[in-house]
Amino acid sequence: EDPLDPHGHLDEQAVDGALRPPSLEEFGGQPRVSAQLGLVLAAAQHRGAVPDHVLLSGPPGLGKTTLAMIIAHELGVPLRISSGPAIQHAGDLAAILSGLTEGEVFFLDEIHRMSRPAEEMLYLAMEDFRVDVIVGKGPGATEIPLEIPRFTLVGATTRAGLLPGPLRDRFGFTGQLDYYDAADLVRIVQRSASLLKVALDDASAQVIASRSRGTPRIANRLLRRVRDYALIHASGRITPPVASAALDLYEVDELGLDRLDRAVLESLCVRFGGGPVGLGTLAMSVGEEVETVEEVAEPFLIRQGFLMRTPRGRVATSRAWAHLGLTVPASRVD
Ligand code: ADP
Repeated sequence: EDPLDPHGHLDEQAVDGALRPPSLEEFGGQPRVSAQLGLVLAAAQHRGAVPDHVLLSGPPGLGKTTLAMIIAHELGVPLRISSGPAIQHAGDLAAILSGLTEGEVFFLDEIHRMSRPAEEMLYLAMEDFRVDVIVGKGPGATEIPLEIPRFTLVGATTRAGLLPGPLRDRFGFTGQLDYYDAADLVRIVQRSASLLKVALDDASAQVIASRSRGTPRIANRLLRRVRDYALIHASGRITPPVASAALDLYEVDELGLDRLDRAVLESLCVRFGGGPVGLGTLAMSVGEEVETVEEVAEPFLIRQGFLMRTPRGRVATSRAWAHLGLTVPASRVD
């Protein structure tokens, strides 16, 4: 069944997958990473070699998984997917690595959340294409070296800085994905709309793009919510006011801040007088995990100039008060 068939049973997650660009050429935005990665792949293919390991870093939804799929697709090799949290024992990793086929791409999402023993096994595998499997228990246990096929590891992490140095050093190429600018997002939304067979004019695409938090995954999601809204409230016709009304309903503001983003700012400005306040305290005050605040909300708020990380804690800028419609305290100078 075609997940994009507008008359079929639309499985939203299948739609998400179907919207993934299949090649670097169709991967909109991130021109630097795209060109650098393209060169790594082309040169490896030219030499008939398995490409170097690739590390991709950046906030969620910017295209790390998509790029891993593209790498496998462009090389014409299979792709194996796993994630750091899924690999708790070195044995889990050994099982995956020894089951790879020659030249396969192994995508390891959230690589910074792997256990230490697995991490150490990965060092050896990346460098020597070998794992040491422990056989037996207690004093009689022995390590048996096992050769594994050559593979390309594509690691993904929200921040390259979360990775221990020795692991980072074993990647031949690191691509740092950054938030997309509005023009790139407009093109991405338009491409998705045409795949979804949704009529979308430029002005409406711009409304969606500008409120997507610089993130393709969010752009695609907002497009679907706007489509739904238009279907129920505007006979299916998307116009800029319809798009705005839909996004207002879903609590996405003009700058793309969502409920969590605003909760963080509001807590920082109102409850903590603008800071400085520690990350843990701030996360607790909005009822969220530290990681979510640090890796999802903060990078965008910093990028938008609402929040600063200082050695003493998080601090709001005057722009934060202004955006929340509050009076900027006289004591604030930034
Ligand atoms: P990440 O792994 O970084 O969290 P994904 O690769 O899963 O992000 O991307 C999320 C969604 O955004 C995918 O469904 C994909 O369709 C879309 N997407 C990401 N990057 C692009 C891009 N450059 N062009 C078009 N669509 C993209």
